[in-house]
Amino acid sequence: WHRSKSTHPDVRERTLIAVKPDGVQRRLVGQIIQRFEQRGFKLVGLKMLQVSEDLLSQHYCQLTSKPFYRNLVDYMTSGPVVVMVWEGDNVVQSTRTMVGPTNPAAAQAGTVRGDFSLHVSRNVVHASDSLEGAQREIQLWFQGKDLLNWDCYDQNLTMEE
Ligand code: UDP
Repeated sequence: WHRSKSTHPDVRERTLIAVKPDGVQRRLVGQIIQRFEQRGFKLVGLKMLQVSEDLLSQHYCQLTSKPFYRNLVDYMTSGPVVVMVWEGDNVVQSTRTMVGPTNPAAAQAGTVRGDFSLHVSRNVVHASDSLEGAQREIQLWFQGKDLLNWDCYDQNLTMEE
């Protein structure tokens, strides 16, 4: 139960979450961060930026030929985003569940999208959808030096070695 202070577990699973421009404009950043903190995940990287079209086309490389892609670019470049990396057991799948499905119309109350949004084109938040996707997106948005390995003093209460 009690872990020695110096043991750093090998880097645990990580995912990329972004509060999209509508979420920032609507001052939802704090509430969204609070949900992941409350769940027990650990924040290891955080920044605010105005996204370039180039970065977006890499981030959404599977979507560039979709009919909604132009609108998606306009939306995502309409203002700053807050992008973060969260760490913890099963964090990719758990945060996807907490965020809810892509279309808020199908999202249950209690999810971020179900509580804060109505339309697929203004769905407030991004969350990586797979381990491979998360690794790719984290590398795209963050430099390794900007992700912190730190010991959260109560992590022995929320995680098991
Ligand atoms: N999107 C949209 N219209 C659609 C489908 C997707 O505007 O019909 C936008 C929406 O903002 C979504 C993003 O494109 O979050 C990326 O789509 P994806 O299918 O990757 O969904 P996600 O992983 O964000 O749930």
